[in-house]
Amino acid sequence: MTTTWTQAARTIPRPTQAVIDGVGVEALTDRSFDSIGPRDGEVVATLPACDERDVDRAVAAARAAFADGRWRDRAPAERKAVLHRFADLVDAHRDELALLETLDTGKPIGDTTAVDAPGAATTLRWYAEAADKVYGEVAPTGPGALATITREPMGVVAAIVPWNYPMIITAWKIGPALATGNSVIVKPAEQSPMATLRLAELASQAGLPPGVLNVLPGEGATGAALAAHGDVDKVTFTGSTATGRKVLEAAAASNLKSVSLELGGKSPQVVFADAPDLDAVAEAVAWGIFYNQGQTCHAGSRLVVEDAVADELVGRIAEVARGLTAGDPLDEATQLGALVSREQLERVVGYIDLAGQEGATVVLGGGRSEPVEGGCYLEPTILDHVRADARIATEEIFGPVLVVQRFDGTQDAALHLANGTDYGLAGAVWSADHARAERVAARLRAGSVYVNCFDLGDVTVPHGGFGASGFGGRDKSLHALDQYTELKTTWRSL
Ligand code: ADP
Repeated sequence: MTTTWTQAARTIPRPTQAVIDGVGVEALTDRSFDSIGPRDGEVVATLPACDERDVDRAVAAARAAFADGRWRDRAPAERKAVLHRFADLVDAHRDELALLETLDTGKPIGDTTAVDAPGAATTLRWYAEAADKVYGEVAPTGPGALATITREPMGVVAAIVPWNYPMIITAWKIGPALATGNSVIVKPAEQSPMATLRLAELASQAGLPPGVLNVLPGEGATGAALAAHGDVDKVTFTGSTATGRKVLEAAAASNLKSVSLELGGKSPQVVFADAPDLDAVAEAVAWGIFYNQGQTCHAGSRLVVEDAVADELVGRIAEVARGLTAGDPLDEATQLGALVSREQLERVVGYIDLAGQEGATVVLGGGRSEPVEGGCYLEPTILDHVRADARIATEEIFGPVLVVQRFDGTQDAALHLANGTDYGLAGAVWSADHARAERVAARLRAGSVYVNCFDLGDVTVPHGGFGASGFGGRDKSLHALDQYTELKTTWRSL
């Protein structure tokens, strides 16, 4: 099967133009950048690094589309129909989109075909359905007046997207933004632009009017120009905390555009000695950190485990990790692919190197591997006996590295460690004592909490976090509609 995918990779058309006003266009910028495939280090595509002029052009197209009502004023049922056609096309082009995503990011093809492309389609379909099912409100003001509360689209939305789940996160943002009638400009990460550019072409094919969905490839400067633009009404950002701060500053310094930030995490899985099934815990912990090579914002990157079962559990997690099939991302049997880039690989290795200085021990992995020559691969790694104040315990590593912190069995000690970072995206607690599990779940400072499980996911529930994990609204679920709409109250005196 690898041969089939490698052959397909040789011939697949690689989108390289910005999409503005419904069509691929030559960018005005004279700068370009290479998207390097982490599978083998080869250049996957060379794309324009869209500059301020390109941003102006895309914003003007989005503004014109919004102003003349070609999308926002369509009946909700018509918007729904277009978004359904879009989702159907994503399904019909699943293999192509999955292959583009794998080439850009090094994710296993088995995941991009089974999770990323279908996940994007499911998300678009769910928000298509929301388009004609969300009602306004009548306020209980009393008989002398009638006040209605309605949602209005914000206008021009800039969606700045990272490289770890390019298609899915794009769908989380454009689904609710388009369903509610906005015009959108997506800025994919420089590591992973191709599937998103293809998505925009499919949206046009589905009948989305020109200017309603635009995609600008580029590096950080393209995102910065969008965040600072005076005619963008909203920026929805997923990425690092450092860049999130810059986006917020740019919004404050320009037109005070609305900002939503989703900024990663350092999520703990708290395991008490009475956890019902240690094998199930080991599976959930291993997959919770090693899936997508650990490059998941809510990855369970810290194991906070009661001393009494720590050795046993760490051993079982290592066993699960050894059983994972690491290899060529284009092999359907591969479960662990490449990290997204050489730079990211070096960053993660830097943290592993820090482990010794910080008094931790490497109990599994720690080394590079090279299933495909020239690629960016790392063994699944477990770092044990990590101090609460260590950088490896508090900073987001964003790689296949599990940090183990042990506690004495008391609830307070567990929570002290679990809540001991600035982040608050996700957390889990494992215990057969349901009352205790509920108490700990209630006190975990995180946007998503799991009890005796991890990483269940569905478009119906919100995604986002507390503290340094971001603010300003949630992705997914009907709550995401709040990110892309303003509330309007209209009074009538009776
Ligand atoms: P990472 O460091 O993991 O690559 P970033 O947060 O820098 O994550 O990237 C997430 C997205 O933000 C990418 O699309 C990137 O190009 C974009 N970006 C980078 N710098 C800026 C910036 N100053 N303003 C807006 N967007 C930016």
